[in-house]
Amino acid sequence: MATFQLRKPVDPHVLLLEVTKTERISPNMVRVTLGGDGLERFTPLGFDQWFRLFLPRPGQDTLKLPTRTSGLWYAQYLATARPKRPFVRNYTVRAYRPDGLDIDFVVHADDDGHSGPASAFALSADPGDQAGLLDQGVGYHPRHDHDWTLLVADETGLPAVAGVLSSLPEDAKGVAVVELPSIQDRQDFRVPPGVTLHWVARDGAPDVPGRLALRTLRAAELPAGPVYAYLVGESGLVTGGRRHLVEDRGVPKSVIDFIGYWRHGHAAPG
Ligand SMILES: Cc1cc2nc3c(=O)[nH]c(=O)nc-3n(C[C@H](O)[C@H](O)[C@H](O)COP(=O)(O)OP(=O)(O)OC[C@H]3O[C@@H](n4cnc5c(N)ncnc54)[C@H](O)[C@@H]3O)c2cc1C
Repeated sequence: MATFQLRKPVDPHVLLLEVTKTERISPNMVRVTLGGDGLERFTPLGFDQWFRLFLPRPGQDTLKLPTRTSGLWYAQYLATARPKRPFVRNYTVRAYRPDGLDIDFVVHADDDGHSGPASAFALSADPGDQAGLLDQGVGYHPRHDHDWTLLVADETGLPAVAGVLSSLPEDAKGVAVVELPSIQDRQDFRVPPGVTLHWVARDGAPDVPGRLALRTLRAAELPAGPVYAYLVGESGLVTGGRRHLVEDRGVPKSVIDFIGYWRHGHAAPG
């Protein structure tokens, strides 16, 4: 049986960081490394630790970051005139070293070539560009004994799956499904020997991200026994995946956590 603990953010302040490196690591992913003095206050927690990322609007060379701590930052943010507010998006720690925090951005564009501010930032960031980071802790949070773990994600959840699998104990058992735009976006990371990781790729098929992962989940032969299921990615994937587990497989709702990371056709607020 697995053990578990609660992982809350440690430092409730927005840290001012700067880009130290960017790298196109695969066709649809750009890795941005953040560093600077502010990183000294960051406490890595492993798993799928995530954060609010504050990014400059066009024409802003200095970032106006909220100074209030934890939950109070949002009221302060809303009280700031929109042209002066930074963009805010949510991202996952892909890797942490004392001198660098890596973020893997999915770079995306719709049929008209419109991207989003975070995707555009990743594509154009230069060393020295500023960004703010507010730790939000870990999302993966089993609260019951379980024999195995089920992870389901689209490409935006690849960093979460990599972080969870890298953090689980060596004897962990489970199944992970990760959908990618291209199979060339797959990455190597530590996978406990008892976990089977399935990569599935749209590879040019004009499908909404997440639908292939959902079909794969529906068709999968899954282990018996108590499970903890964690679903992250496009909202149709995570709500459809949860519904499938509950209605078709009889998995109790209480052992499933799901986070809609983004909604097809809807920009994130902020
Ligand atoms: C806890 C958490 C952790 C996350 N971690 C990561 C991470 O590590 N890496 C990562 O890449 N994303 C991650 N995301 C998802 C990311 O926050 C969203 O994809 C975000 O909307 C991207 O912002 P944007 O400014 O690029 O686009 P937005 O301005 O939010 O959206 C503009 C348009 O692009 C579409 N869109 C947004 N994201 C995508 C996408 N990935 N593919 C195709 N179309 C898209 C929207 O539907 C909208 O039509 C995470 C989300 C959460 C909640």
